[in-house]
Amino acid sequence: MDLDRHDFELDELIERIKSHDNRLVALQVPEGLKMQALDMMDAIEHETSAKIVLAADPCYGACDLVHDKMQRMGVELVAHMGHSQMNIDSGMPTQFINVTYDGDPAIDPVLPILAQHQAIAEQRLVNSQSEQEISTEDAQDKFLDAVGRISPLKGTKLGLVGSIQHLHLIFDYKERLEAAGFEVEVPVGGARLTFPGQVLGCNYSGDQDDIGHYLFLGSGDFHPIGLVLHTGKPLAMLDPYSGDAEEMSFERIERILRQRFGLIMACDNAKTFGILIGEKPGQMRRTLALRMKKILEKHGKKGYLLALEHVGPELIDFYPVDAFVNTACPRIAIDDSVRYAKPLITPFELEVALGEKQWETGYQFDEIP
Ligand code: SF4
Repeated sequence: MDLDRHDFELDELIERIKSHDNRLVALQVPEGLKMQALDMMDAIEHETSAKIVLAADPCYGACDLVHDKMQRMGVELVAHMGHSQMNIDSGMPTQFINVTYDGDPAIDPVLPILAQHQAIAEQRLVNSQSEQEISTEDAQDKFLDAVGRISPLKGTKLGLVGSIQHLHLIFDYKERLEAAGFEVEVPVGGARLTFPGQVLGCNYSGDQDDIGHYLFLGSGDFHPIGLVLHTGKPLAMLDPYSGDAEEMSFERIERILRQRFGLIMACDNAKTFGILIGEKPGQMRRTLALRMKKILEKHGKKGYLLALEHVGPELIDFYPVDAFVNTACPRIAIDDSVRYAKPLITPFELEVALGEKQWETGYQFDEIP
């Protein structure tokens, strides 16, 4: 990572620590920045009279805020870096620290991909107007199709989204893409998101019916995979670190959908389920977990509620159940299920397995609102 081109906005934090005369502050940084954490601790301690303690457990999102356990240690303020505020209360005063990257690659390499995707969106819009009832076999095919959810689609706009360190450039890119002839929408999501164009691995709530395809400004395929699974719309990626452009491969998404299909089928004869509840403040979906237990009971099956802060195969594989339903971070089931010895499925997938939801709807991503 090119750290010289990142801006770690520590000034506001230093001002806040000084004005509140904080003595003990917890610093929480994403995994990719842990190597720089000690330098940041030095910088803050140099500018203030506070002592800084690094919250050194893994941290993958603002869902995972340091909460009351550090209050017992005497921590007065949490400084959370690299993620934005979401609709949760961790019970601790928390300062969110932006990290931005100044790379702004040219759009030329991505334009041919966007033109192809626009043509797909235009064709789908025509098809959606002639949609008819379909057989179970066709419905299962539709479930496995990466861009198979035709309806609802009411337009072919280009949706422009990005990961958080590039969002300060999003309206600049909107203008550049409009100058290249695209009608561009920067979607605004729900309460879990802070900025226009923002997406999380578990939330794509800005998606709209009149967006026909997407451009993601960022690196890696974590957000793109989720966005295509959630929307069923083609997606191009422009990487601000390398300047490279590519599309999210439909084959890749269809491989994931085939895997999800196989796991749903594997739960057909399962009688006992472990229902995972995440203990992290922004992952806890107790009501959903209880609903899953009730649905299982309705179908004559047994669900055991298991609460965990971290989820991993070594922590659950040994329970004598046939399968697991995950209500913690949705990406645990989607990205990591091959690591588990037993089927690990999402709540939607359980409902399909039990016949409560239909294949026709296409795959539904497990979003945390
Ligand atoms: S729940 Fe998962 S995907 Fe959502 S912010 Fe947390 S770690 Fe990221």
